[in-house]
Amino acid sequence: MVFWTEQRKADVRKAETQTYELLQELGQESFKRIRTLEFSEKAGTADCTQVDGQQGKYLDVRMFAGDADKKVWAVAHELGHGVHELYRGPMDTCGESWAEAIRYFTESRYNPGSDWLRTGPPPQDRNILDACGWDWGTFKRLFATHQLLP
Ligand SMILES: [Zn+2]
Repeated sequence: MVFWTEQRKADVRKAETQTYELLQELGQESFKRIRTLEFSEKAGTADCTQVDGQQGKYLDVRMFAGDADKKVWAVAHELGHGVHELYRGPMDTCGESWAEAIRYFTESRYNPGSDWLRTGPPPQDRNILDACGWDWGTFKRLFATHQLLP
């Protein structure tokens, strides 16, 4: 059985577009876009690779198979990594809590019935959400004034 049906791929593309819509609010230069999106039938999470440097404009993203209810919006997590890479500058920090925060804000707006939202990110990846009180408006303000931990 194919995991990445045409419908599911279209759902990912829609989630990608909606994530961009949200991220526009941080400013046009604050996020990266996906250059190539690859769908793998292997079980796994998702990952992303910089294609034009840490301060570049694009990511290559691979989506793996898994829990259908939680998988599609992993694309918002990967785009969250792009935001973090641009924000942190030359520091070498991992950004899981950044990626989870972006996914949380995106799903809260565009996919509020989400299974993933019910549990949210794992406790160790909540630093950024805790820092802004799980509030997008506060996140944007702290982001604009660079008050979030890189
Ligand atoms: Zn990640």
